[in-house]
Amino acid sequence: MSRAITLVESTLASDQLLAVEVLAGCQAHVKESFRIGITGVPGVGKSTFIDAFGSHLTGLGHKVVVLAIDPSSEISHGSILGDKTRMERLSRDPRAYVRPSPARGSLGGVTRATREAILLCEAAGFDLIIVETVGVGQSEIAVHSMVDFFLLLMLAGAGDELQGIKKGIMEMADGIAINKADGDNLQKAKQARAEYESALHLFPMAANGWLPPVKICSAVLGDGIPELTEMVFNFRDTQSANGFLGNQRRQQAKTWMHETIGHVLLNRFYKDAEIQKVLIDKELQVESGKIPPTVAATQLIELYLQPIS
Ligand code: GDP
Repeated sequence: MSRAITLVESTLASDQLLAVEVLAGCQAHVKESFRIGITGVPGVGKSTFIDAFGSHLTGLGHKVVVLAIDPSSEISHGSILGDKTRMERLSRDPRAYVRPSPARGSLGGVTRATREAILLCEAAGFDLIIVETVGVGQSEIAVHSMVDFFLLLMLAGAGDELQGIKKGIMEMADGIAINKADGDNLQKAKQARAEYESALHLFPMAANGWLPPVKICSAVLGDGIPELTEMVFNFRDTQSANGFLGNQRRQQAKTWMHETIGHVLLNRFYKDAEIQKVLIDKELQVESGKIPPTVAATQLIELYLQPIS
């Protein structure tokens, strides 16, 4: 499975061809699964939480995968999520597989690879897929588009601004967990829970009728983890029964196909020998205001589409 994931992460054309074959072969083996996205700012306790949550899930008999999307590695060449050996318990768990985020590649590339890795893991018999990301940019939207349930981890008393949590991210959440609800922090966490609960009531009701619950937990002590798990499974059961989950998966699959078409076409365009010959010149013409961008783009596309005589 590791080698297959390395294949879908590869940008080599020959690897990509093989990856498509492997993915096609996997389709028949995909079993029922549930995909959980987890986000929160650095330091909120994501690794610690996933270590505890994932271990609880394997204890219930599930086979758990942890994948990560870390766009920080693209920008700073250093990773915020870092080396996943931090999830020590889960890394040693024979029922779990922890995969670090690919260190290279654009957010788009990493997103594609992660979506494909999900399918590979499901075909290999893993039934719970956790996709982790840092709450610092576009990566939440990417993760949200590939999971069934989106969990937002927060801290009490850190202030929404400080946590970089935009209203949009709270709106995407299917559940919120206030972590580090232990010691002196427990009371503050309870208060924050009440505040977030009332804030969520102000949001328009989601089409699936689900009001995101707010829970408190302590990832280090393991407190609240069973309750959170119950909440997640309750979501899975009600949303499967009312058909929203299946519908969401179908929409996601369709979007994924369209995005792949866009990506493949764009790649071919930029790799085209004729385009490469004139592209820099066109860029200069656009920069200097000689041709409007739309005109340059149209000329390039016409050049790409013209039949080779
Ligand atoms: P991440 O950056 O979101 O992955 O956060 P980490 O899991 O690396 O945790 C950041 C720090 O918070 C570490 O020092 C953890 O030990 C600590 N931490 C994580 N969860 C808890 C918790 O539930 N309670 C307390 N008191 N500390 C925690």
